[in-house]
Amino acid sequence: MTSQTIANTPTPDQIRRAPKVLLHDHLDGGLRPATIVELARENAYTQLPETDPEKLGIWFREAADSGSLERYLETFSHTVGVMQTRDALVRVAAECAEDLAEDGVVYAEVRYAPEQHLEGGLSLEEVVEAVNEGFREGERRARENGHRIRVGALLTAMRHAARALEIAELANRYRDLGVVGFDIAGAEAGYPPTRHLDAFEYLKRENNHFTIHAGEAFGLPSIWQALQWCGADRLGHGVRIIDDIQVHEDGRVELGRLASYVRDKRIPLELCPSSNLQTGAAASYAEHPIGLLRRLHFRATVNTDNRLMSYTSMTREFEHLVEAFGYTLDDMQWFSVNAMKSAFIPFDERLAMINDVIKPGYAELKSEWLFRQTASTSGSVDSEG
Ligand SMILES: [Zn+2]
Repeated sequence: MTSQTIANTPTPDQIRRAPKVLLHDHLDGGLRPATIVELARENAYTQLPETDPEKLGIWFREAADSGSLERYLETFSHTVGVMQTRDALVRVAAECAEDLAEDGVVYAEVRYAPEQHLEGGLSLEEVVEAVNEGFREGERRARENGHRIRVGALLTAMRHAARALEIAELANRYRDLGVVGFDIAGAEAGYPPTRHLDAFEYLKRENNHFTIHAGEAFGLPSIWQALQWCGADRLGHGVRIIDDIQVHEDGRVELGRLASYVRDKRIPLELCPSSNLQTGAAASYAEHPIGLLRRLHFRATVNTDNRLMSYTSMTREFEHLVEAFGYTLDDMQWFSVNAMKSAFIPFDERLAMINDVIKPGYAELKSEWLFRQTASTSGSVDSEG
């Protein structure tokens, strides 16, 4: 092994410091346990299963790990339950931006469903403005701590509800004001995205961007619908595209029509490895389709989905992938550039993020091995003082 190879395998600290880009993260899936406890107390929310932050954090992880959809959904009833006031939304959004920045994320698109935060009497507009205010506050605090992060919001409509067009219009009204796109989420079974065609058609007429949760639990038909009926710019998960890829015993790989389309058109896949392990979409990190999809040069990106429920962060996701697939800093850069290319902000800004932030960041990390010798030598000389 040459020193170059050693240097190219990122250490946990390098993984954390590497500039990362996150496209698929739920605001109500990333709260700090201590914040949930405090918000519950302030807002007289009495439904929490635990009031000790540490125990509560474990409860969330175990409920999400349980394999029971009911328990998994219960986790969100608690996070959403404490996010019903303006102050709570500002705080949660600010801490989200702060935590992501601390984790080395330089650009994030964080999504939430405004319609789930109206129980305390807020209007849809007030919800959006509170979250935007929180993101700006979090960006400011991150800057004070020496980090740079930019956070855009995606407005999510719930599949089972009938407000998709209203939320799409809301997303359009707040574009250029912190909202960068639209999303559809919720149970895939029984609620195909085609139920919300009016929302997608409206956004297309407005030249706006959207992603659709598809191909997570459900297979190819949901991916096909999201792309060919709804016109999604990106696939939320999309991991089941693997069902349209055949790997023969001699190593030959054959792509079906849909998988070919997804790769040829460079459709971004918002892959969320840890989340997929919890929902059973993959058995282990090593068996996660991301390995093959990366090898086949799909527009694959790495995401957290729900940091609290999956006990994860971008750093942890990459740590798992580095361990499972031997990824290097070059691989990390490839995923990060892929994600940045797929972001919903304007092309010139994406390009500047890639050329002026992401590539220089990786170049600096990759060159660290050159200076290691010098550092340890001077360390021994200076050992007296
Ligand atoms: Zn998701």
